[in-house]
Amino acid sequence: MTKVTDFISRSEGKTLFSIEIIPPVKGQNINELFNSIEPLMEFKPPFVDVTYHREELIDRVNPNGVIERIPVRKRPGTVGICARLMERFHVDAVPHVICGGFTKDETEDVLFDLHYLGIDNVLVLRGDPEKSAGIFKAKNGGHTYASELVTQVSNMNKGILLNAETETHPTDFCIGVAGYPEKHIDATNFDTDYEHLRKKVELGANYIVTQMFFDNQKYFTFVERCRAEGITVPIIPGLKPLATKKQLTILADIFHLEFPEDLKKEALSRATDKEVRQVGIEWGVQQCKELLAYGVPVLHFYTMGKSDNVGQIAKEIF
Ligand code: FAD
Repeated sequence: MTKVTDFISRSEGKTLFSIEIIPPVKGQNINELFNSIEPLMEFKPPFVDVTYHREELIDRVNPNGVIERIPVRKRPGTVGICARLMERFHVDAVPHVICGGFTKDETEDVLFDLHYLGIDNVLVLRGDPEKSAGIFKAKNGGHTYASELVTQVSNMNKGILLNAETETHPTDFCIGVAGYPEKHIDATNFDTDYEHLRKKVELGANYIVTQMFFDNQKYFTFVERCRAEGITVPIIPGLKPLATKKQLTILADIFHLEFPEDLKKEALSRATDKEVRQVGIEWGVQQCKELLAYGVPVLHFYTMGKSDNVGQIAKEIF
């Protein structure tokens, strides 16, 4: 399998197209997800990211009426989906691996599953806090920050496992990490956020994928600041076309980002979500044209299960 950084260097400056998909809720038909992204294969994504999800505590009412709080992993299956993706679409899968909800040993085992499947890319993340908790807490025996998981994967690449006494056959993972043009919510300020990002790169991250943004200036400033901090790895912009009016508040709240006033005004002036979706497509096309001119290595789209709008943007760009 090919490393994301090799895809980028081999493209000789040509911007690539890639997407991220989310595993379906447990019990749903996986083919619906695959059918929804099939039209995007026309734009030849060399790799497809698959997100990773922790268990969440949910309240279940027992037959005797007592409410019991139980852990449920609503979206399992990342490793299996990666295997099927590679088989069905002949693309490289980039599974995400997270700290939250997993011990280091559990993660080591997952990384071996990926290695045995021939997967050489991982996007290493901390993960969000449990919904019921509000603040992030590592599982006993787990990592607190993505940088610690970067170290674990880098060590595996050197043949160093958690509990093995002798060196083992090394893995060869290309490591991606997340970056936040509008600052990560938990970071006290931009300075510390850049410091922590630089640390992830120093510890072995080979490239960065950004949180979604709707104002390109935020990405340009982010890249300039990273370069000034000595971060030289590729910085892939993450993009999502606005699709509904509600997303103006939902995405802003979940991902801690600001929508440009012009986009907000345009979207709010439309009567239906069908029209808002069109506004999102037009905005996305303009965003991509500008990013293309800037020379970004990849335009990486968060599909969130629906791909028609991403396809329409890609048609204009690739
Ligand atoms: P970190 O790099 O660990 O940073 C988290 C916070 O801690 C930041 O504020 C940082 O500044 C701070 N920090 C870092 N190191 C230190 C330190 N040593 N001391 C003090 N503070 C520190 N979530 C999922 O659950 N599954 C996914 O598949 C997933 N995919 C994602 C893909 C992308 C491209 C992005 C951008 C996010 C994704 N997320 C996913 C969400 C992500 O897990 C959250 O944004 C999470 O809150 C932070 O993850 P991180 O890897 O950036 O964490």
